[in-house]
Amino acid sequence: MQTGRYAPSPTGRLHLGNLRTALVAWAIARQAGGRFVMRFENLDDRSRSHFLSEQLSDLQELGIDWDGEPLVQSDCLSRYEDAFEQLKAAGRVYECYCSRRELSQLASAPHHPPGAYSGRCRLLSEPEREQKRNYLWEKYRRGPAYRLKTNLDNASFPDKVYGLQNGSIDDFVLRRSDGVFSYNLVCVVDDAYQGVTQVCRGRDLIPSTARQNYLHQLLGSTIPQYYHVPLVLNREGQRLAKRDGAVTLPQLKAKGIEKADILELLASSLGFFRVRSASEFLQAFDLEKMSREDWRYLGL
Ligand code: GLU
Repeated sequence: MQTGRYAPSPTGRLHLGNLRTALVAWAIARQAGGRFVMRFENLDDRSRSHFLSEQLSDLQELGIDWDGEPLVQSDCLSRYEDAFEQLKAAGRVYECYCSRRELSQLASAPHHPPGAYSGRCRLLSEPEREQKRNYLWEKYRRGPAYRLKTNLDNASFPDKVYGLQNGSIDDFVLRRSDGVFSYNLVCVVDDAYQGVTQVCRGRDLIPSTARQNYLHQLLGSTIPQYYHVPLVLNREGQRLAKRDGAVTLPQLKAKGIEKADILELLASSLGFFRVRSASEFLQAFDLEKMSREDWRYLGL
């Protein structure tokens, strides 16, 4: 059975961009007769627990339903620890002592896009590590970050919306120096644990996908199918954010805008017209006909 998911970060109410992605993810899963599961990516410091229930009520209000209890990442730390230990035992993890400033000044690895890690800490000797570890602790009271030792520069994957994509695979972070597991690690562990076969999310995450697939292979889990969706942008052409005015359901409702109008707006931005409820969206949605263009939201 197909399983889709929606995995918001509970850092605020869902805005029109989040709601649009959720609607598409839900429609893809339900049209396939599949399950649709929720997951809260709340390892980020900006997460607030009250947003979990508020985000669920935003989805419910639009008519999106899900199966089972939502997974909350802060309840799953031992599972991430196990995956991390599995990679460590396979000799795939090394400590990285680079500071944020050093990282921004480092040249990227050859054959990699800007920002990709150069592998600077990969070849250090044990006495060098000892010295750097002590320095970090004495100066900043922090431990090292942990990176994955990769042996590929990049890989391709098929995307159901944008076609064949290629992404860089550098020695990305698995665990930050404050002990928090990285998005890439937890996303892969959770997609496997939740039995996710369809990953539908914003196209801004296309660059993370090759890394995640690489981790799936190392951890022995099945690579899901990807459906990256176009973004909602603000007037300036940047990704929509909470600061862009009335963008959440409560804000729009306070302006007298009905739920059906919001659904109609979101559906029409994707190329589906005369849709005023989630069930009408489910009927009308057709992945082949969905707009591939980002949508600029100019306000209501
Ligand atoms: N938590 C991420 C976000 O809210 C989505 C991650 C994912 O879908 O893989 O943008």
